[in-house]
Amino acid sequence: MPFQKLGLSAPVLEAVKAMGYVDPTPIQLRAIPLILAGRDVIGSAQTGTGKTAAFALPLITRLAHHEPRTRFLVLEPTRELAAQVEVAIRDLARFTDLRTAVVFGGVGYGKQMDALKRGTDIIVATPGRLLDHLERNTCHLDQVRHLVLDEADRMLDMGFLPDVRRILERCPRERQTLLFSATIPPEIETLIQWAMRQPQAVEIGARRTPAETVKHVIYPVADVQKADLLLALLNGVNYDSVIVFCRTKHGADRIAGLLKRNNHAVAVLHSNRTQREREQALLGFREGRYEVLVATDIASRGLDIADVSHVVNYDVPQHPEDYIHRIGRTGRAEASGDALTLMAAEDSGHVAAIERFISQKIKRVKLENFEYRYTALFEEEKPGQPKGFDRRVRGVRIHGGYYFGPARRKR
Ligand code: AMP
Repeated sequence: MPFQKLGLSAPVLEAVKAMGYVDPTPIQLRAIPLILAGRDVIGSAQTGTGKTAAFALPLITRLAHHEPRTRFLVLEPTRELAAQVEVAIRDLARFTDLRTAVVFGGVGYGKQMDALKRGTDIIVATPGRLLDHLERNTCHLDQVRHLVLDEADRMLDMGFLPDVRRILERCPRERQTLLFSATIPPEIETLIQWAMRQPQAVEIGARRTPAETVKHVIYPVADVQKADLLLALLNGVNYDSVIVFCRTKHGADRIAGLLKRNNHAVAVLHSNRTQREREQALLGFREGRYEVLVATDIASRGLDIADVSHVVNYDVPQHPEDYIHRIGRTGRAEASGDALTLMAAEDSGHVAAIERFISQKIKRVKLENFEYRYTALFEEEKPGQPKGFDRRVRGVRIHGGYYFGPARRKR
């Protein structure tokens, strides 16, 4: 069904055309009619499926014209997401006279206060700073008619649920509530019961599957060789733009330094960087000035970075959901991408948890011509293959396609 048949307003259809969208994505097809009809909706589509437009298009249609009161509020877990979603909504509302404002912490109050004072139809906010504005009386939510809780599981992880509840208490009970979440843990279930009215669930594909277009593989490697393997992969793989995920900020800085020394154009994104540094990193990466973005998990949820050809998990994520979110950066809106995970022996437990979570075994591969050192991971045997197979002979196929160089046994 084309966009024209979904009941969206003319200015919204004009924006859809200007954005170059040809057909609605599955979540847009399912959610737009429900949202236009005023229903509460729980959306469990993955990021990259077009979920922002799925809620923004019908809600912009419903708001229609500017009024000097806030009727549409979106809550986001991070400032990057808030900034990105506000830009997306502004783009989609560009042929209307609706006004949007974005509110998040880590920056001054002046600009946000000015935008709020001018009267804004739509606010996209992170919970903490929005509460500050409510307490200062610089923002009012008593006219909110449409509320979106985006990335609800992330808000839970970040400890924002009490803030979210306090914000909801400032909104009228008579409202439409939409909730988006990749997973629905019990705390979110409770929030749903408390905050929503007869919600309709819109689930696209199984809740736990990674984006279907992503080809994902694991590179088993000895811990001490991870950095060398990363360099070899970046040199050997034909990529346009890569995000490398690290577990810690310190690790991210270290890897970024290593890549810079090896002549890669690198930007870093983590929470110790100032807001300005983060914006510059994202902008530079989007514009292609940097080919590699090294990031911690703050960057992994929902960020709309177009055309990422590869995601590399330098560290295996410790929470299975983060794996889905990380590799959601590639294969967005049905483009294809590759997701590469480096696995050292101590990561086996986390990898097993991820495989259980997504109900599939991720293929183990090796990089040709890389001088692998011995790791216990290479002992994963093919069924029926005797243990103790001689692993020391270079170039011998031991199982599943592994070859490796001179063996170094730990004593
Ligand atoms: P989201 O899941 O909202 O983060 O969207 C992911 C990306 O898909 C964004 O770059 C959107 O601009 C893009 N997008 C959203 N809807 C469509 C559509 N119907 N056709 C093509 N691209 C889309």
